[in-house]
Amino acid sequence: MGTQVAVDVWHKDKNIAAQCSDKVFIEMRRIDELMSPFKADSELALINNLAAKQEVRISNELFDLIKFSLEISKKSAGAFDITFASVGYLYDYRQGLKPSDDVINNKLEFINYKNIKLNNKNKSIKFSRHGMRIDLGGIAKGYAVDNAIAILKKCGIKNGMVSAGGDSRILGDRQGRSWMMGVRHPRNKNDIAVKLPLTNTAISTSGDYERFFIEDGKRYHHIIKPATGKSVDTTWSATVMADSATLSDALSTTLFVLGDKKGFKLIDSYKGVDAIVINSKGKMFYSSGLVAPN
Ligand code: ADP
Ligand code: MG
Repeated sequence: MGTQVAVDVWHKDKNIAAQCSDKVFIEMRRIDELMSPFKADSELALINNLAAKQEVRISNELFDLIKFSLEISKKSAGAFDITFASVGYLYDYRQGLKPSDDVINNKLEFINYKNIKLNNKNKSIKFSRHGMRIDLGGIAKGYAVDNAIAILKKCGIKNGMVSAGGDSRILGDRQGRSWMMGVRHPRNKNDIAVKLPLTNTAISTSGDYERFFIEDGKRYHHIIKPATGKSVDTTWSATVMADSATLSDALSTTLFVLGDKKGFKLIDSYKGVDAIVINSKGKMFYSSGLVAPN
C-alpha cells in the first residue's frame, strides 16, 4: 500500500496480543496483493488489462468495494471517482513527472465512473470505454483498516488501534481514556493543527503533503479533481470521522475534492459523520456536528 501500518493492541496476555497483530499484518499484505495498482498480478491489474475487452469475473470482495466506490461517486456527483486513474497513472510524484495539458485533455473523457458496469448476477465488471483505468487508492487503506479491526475483535481484543497512513480506526478506548489523535498541520510538518479525543471511531485525513512534488512554484499531488485531471488546489487537508474506515477514507478524499461548502453538505447527509477541512488559505472549517474551538 506504499504506507506505514501500525497496530496497537491491549490484552492481558502478551501472546494473544502478538498473535492478533500478526494476523492483522497478514491481512494487510493480502489486500495489498489484491488491490495494488503496481503489482502486475493483482486482481486490480487484471481488471485494468481486460475489462475494456470483456466482462471480468472478480472476487466478491473487490466487487463490493467497487460498488461502494460507485455509490460515493453518485452521492458526490463524481468528486470521488476511481476512474481518476485514467489520467492519474500518468503522474509520478516520486520522480516529479506529470502529463502535459494535451495528454490530459485527450484522456479526460476516460474519467467517468458511469462507464464502469457491474453485473450483480455473475459478479463481473466491464468498462464501456477503452483507455479507462481504475485505482482504489482513495478507499483501499480504509477497507484494510476495517478488516484489521474485525480481526482484532474476533481475536478477543476489546481495545486497540490500527493505522495505515492517514487512515486509522480506534477500537474501544485507551485504558479508560480517549485516544488523542492529532491532525497534522498541512504546511508545518511538526505542528498539530488540531487534537481530537476519540474512542471507538475511524478517522481519515487526506492531505496534499503526502505524495507531491513542486515545479515552478506549483504543487502537484495525488488527489485529482476528476473534472480536470489535475491536482485539487483549493484544499490543504480534509479529515473525516465515521464508524467505518472504508467510509472515512472515501469521504476524506471526496471532501478534499469538494472543499468545505459542498463537502459539508455531503458529510451532513451521513448520520454520525464529522469532518474538518483546512483550505488552501490555511483556514479551518468544522462540519455541523463539531463545535469549533474559540
Ligand atoms: P492517502 O491516505 O494515500 O493520502 P487519500 O485517502 O488521501 O489517501 O486518497 C488519495 C488517493 O486516492 C490517491 O493516491 C489516489 O490513489 C486516489 N484518488 C485521487 N483522486 C481521487 C478521486 N478524485 N477519487 C477517488 N480516488 C482518488
Ligand atoms: Mg481517503
